[in-house]
Amino acid sequence: MSTSQLVRLPPLPSIRDLIKLYKIRAMKELSQNFLMDPRLTSRIVRSAGPTKDCEVCEVGPGPGNITRSIIQNMPARVLVIEKDKRFIPSLELLAESSPVPLELIFGDVMNFNMEKLFHEEHVRDWEDICPPIHLIGNLPFNVSTPLIIRWLKAVSEKKNAWRYGRVRMTLTFQKEVAERMAAPIMTKERCRLSIMCQNWCRVEHKFNIPGRAFLPKPEVDVGVVRLVPLRNPVIQLPFDVVEKVVRSVFSYRQKYCVRGIEILFPKPVREELSKEMLKAACIEPETRPFQLTISEFGRLCNAYMDICNKKPDYMKYNYRSSKSLEEWPILDDMELTNELD
Ligand code: SAM
Repeated sequence: MSTSQLVRLPPLPSIRDLIKLYKIRAMKELSQNFLMDPRLTSRIVRSAGPTKDCEVCEVGPGPGNITRSIIQNMPARVLVIEKDKRFIPSLELLAESSPVPLELIFGDVMNFNMEKLFHEEHVRDWEDICPPIHLIGNLPFNVSTPLIIRWLKAVSEKKNAWRYGRVRMTLTFQKEVAERMAAPIMTKERCRLSIMCQNWCRVEHKFNIPGRAFLPKPEVDVGVVRLVPLRNPVIQLPFDVVEKVVRSVFSYRQKYCVRGIEILFPKPVREELSKEMLKAACIEPETRPFQLTISEFGRLCNAYMDICNKKPDYMKYNYRSSKSLEEWPILDDMELTNELD
């Protein structure tokens, strides 16, 4: 839809006025930074691709600034998931004046299951074209990385929203995180997040928004990323296995990959099994993690699985207690700086 085709909403108070009217102060613990410029909220929505007649679920709508742009593109239906009930009045006001159904859900997106949220007629086979469903959100930074990991796992298992098929996501992240998600091989940004995102999705880093466009202004800039689930993931193995191997290899980002592979196994067998794994995967031990393709990671994962099939206890072995999905830091600095000793 071109800008001239956007539907005009009935007159509504500006977002700035709504925030003042309902005395909403941005809450630090919810990482609330509001995007005030409608040209930027429209650009985020445009980045998702055509949304006319689609079902759109927005996460973290806040006072409804991106929601307004979503509505202007005339989707069939909009659903918003917001944790902070202080936004009820401004979102209800928007729902009343919206020409398309706007449904408000108050809850935590981290635990929200979208398996029944959309119309059944939109369920598609995985190999089929993407269903007319979009997930859009200017996520809080402290939620966005753990959430995308959780959602990638759901993509890999075709659960949650991905029960409907290859549902597309258009989300914001701290700019450096967005760069890492899309980072190609051989770049300094390449890290485990790059492999995890790119194994299951086509990742498009669309554009950046300077921190000064938000109120209050965050310390960092923001990157808008579109993710389209792949018909065939490069590595067709369980998410947790891929995550474990990739995390271990990137634990020593600047060293040869053999260092990271060693920590997949207990000390007495470490040297022998890491050599066996590299040999089976046809990878030179001196390759550095950021020089490995996703297919090469796939060969490593398969070799690891073969070893674990012979001795299942190795699968349970953890060099350092494993990070749960929630523990993915916003910006995984460990990968770039402090390697494990
Ligand atoms: N969409 C608005 C915008 O772009 O200006 C607000 C964005 S603000 C960065 C993030 C929003 O996500 C806030 O409204 C916050 O209350 C909400 N939020 C934070 N954590 C959440 C969670 N776990 N589930 C749902 N919403 C959450």
